[in-house]
Amino acid sequence: MNAWMMFDPQAREDTPAVTELNAWLQDWAKRLDFRLMDERRCLPPHLVLAVGNRGLLGMQVPEAYGGRLCLSNFELLRVQRQLGAIDLTLAFFVGLNNGLGIRPIQRFAAPAIKERYLPQLASGRMLAAFALTERAAGSNPLGMAACAQREGDLFRLDGTKSWSGSAAWAGVISVFARHIDDQGRDLGYLGLCVDAEQQGMHQGSEAMTLGLKGMVQNQLHFDAALVSQDRVLGSAFAGLAVASDTMGFGRLGIAATCVGGLWRCVQLMIRYSTRRSLGGHHLWDHEHTQRVVDDALCAATAIGGWVDHLALRLDQGLPDAPPEVLAATKWLASEVLGEVSDSALQMLGARGYCDNNPIGQLWRDARITRLFEGPSETLAAFIGQRVLEQPGTVIAYLDQTVHGEIIRARILEWTAEEVSVPRLSAGTLRLGECVAWLMLSSQPLDEFCRRWVDYRLERALHAWERTRLPVRKMNYSSDWATIDTGIHDCAQPGEERKIDPLLASQVSA
Ligand SMILES: Cc1cc2nc3c(=O)[nH]c(=O)nc-3n(C[C@H](O)[C@H](O)[C@H](O)COP(=O)(O)OP(=O)(O)OC[C@H]3O[C@@H](n4cnc5c(N)ncnc54)[C@H](O)[C@@H]3O)c2cc1C
Repeated sequence: MNAWMMFDPQAREDTPAVTELNAWLQDWAKRLDFRLMDERRCLPPHLVLAVGNRGLLGMQVPEAYGGRLCLSNFELLRVQRQLGAIDLTLAFFVGLNNGLGIRPIQRFAAPAIKERYLPQLASGRMLAAFALTERAAGSNPLGMAACAQREGDLFRLDGTKSWSGSAAWAGVISVFARHIDDQGRDLGYLGLCVDAEQQGMHQGSEAMTLGLKGMVQNQLHFDAALVSQDRVLGSAFAGLAVASDTMGFGRLGIAATCVGGLWRCVQLMIRYSTRRSLGGHHLWDHEHTQRVVDDALCAATAIGGWVDHLALRLDQGLPDAPPEVLAATKWLASEVLGEVSDSALQMLGARGYCDNNPIGQLWRDARITRLFEGPSETLAAFIGQRVLEQPGTVIAYLDQTVHGEIIRARILEWTAEEVSVPRLSAGTLRLGECVAWLMLSSQPLDEFCRRWVDYRLERALHAWERTRLPVRKMNYSSDWATIDTGIHDCAQPGEERKIDPLLASQVSA
């Protein structure tokens, strides 16, 4: 029985397809060495082949395009949760391929492009990636500099993308760029489905990340790459709609993965505290220990239930949850996983800090969830801003939830107070956090989870209240960047990585 069925009597049952897949995953994962993958900074080929052969790399590809599993959203996210409980790197590798990789092609590519790529992607013979971020355009994707310009029947693509997950391993990549006319004027944004063999595209350096080390995140350079126009994703002027759809669903996937990570933390804390003897009693016997575990249990069950609810809504064909709601699930799940993985590491003492045990790796891997696909601050500010400008969208969603009516009144009360707040202020960001907790409290929760959510909402309200106090005056000066703290950057020459010019295939100028 899964942990979530054991501790959460209200948990929804898995379908037979999910039960079978998750049982296979649990058994198969016993043969994997995630620590070695982390140290080698590489997922082994047998892992990629195994998940591909089981259909896990293309879980929602329709049968007509070679899909094997054809899972519903609820099923997909349940498998994603299981993967998160096993290992976050594995989970994000699989999740990225299904979400950021395949979804834009499956939903927005022309039929011939789908026919060309989806069967290979569904069977795991090919990987897919998503390239939106640039060094100067991360939390502000509209600031991207990459541009695409029509040249006859083709689009000429120029620019550099950064931190693109699985890009160097992928056979096809969804790339987003400014669409400009021949005068350089903006026509909107464009998404292109680019083949790995595309002339003018070069794979760039890999990022040495803190976590998810077994995966690759690398730069991509486009230098007058001529891409045929049948590779446009959706409308040639509305590529951002494609990126938003992909990232919105991806946020729900991240939340489901975080729920799996939360259950893994619960498991490790219970194992350790009930076995660790402190001379006559166990660590578990301390009330504090049980409270820490209970908080983690509340988080896992409450957020898990919310993700299930949203997935089922999608499956029932109800209108897609608004982007504010998807942003809120990701914000909440990733923030809470950050806290809970830290509490688990603390509870495990020195064993938590040693890399032969799994919590340190989980803690490092979990850290990314607060940063990618919208860092926490930008997501919270987005929720706050939308609620101030268009509260109707969130309210319409809440109206369909169990406790929505009480909550609707609170949102209207808050937004009435904040009408004069500048939209980019800390107040807007903190308001967004309060709204996220409020959304969670609209769900059916048992008495323990309700108390936990109420407490967290109170904390969020205090943080919001504090933004009404003035912040210390710090007059920005460009000299700050050169302040001498006595700490110096490493001046060692480092490793020579580039091939010697005398041995290179081309003599550099
Ligand atoms: C492991 C990994 C995998 C990734 N995978 C992909 C991928 O597959 N495809 C892809 O396109 N990208 C990917 N990314 C990129 C990722 O999505 C970006 O790093 C992320 O969007 C943040 O952008 P940035 O790093 O430029 O941060 P910045 O934009 O420099 O932001 C820095 C900080 O400023 C904060 N901030 C911004 N605005 C506000 C505000 N209004 N109020 C308060 N604080 C604010 C942010 O929250 C953030 O904490 C990946 C990154 C990593 C590390």
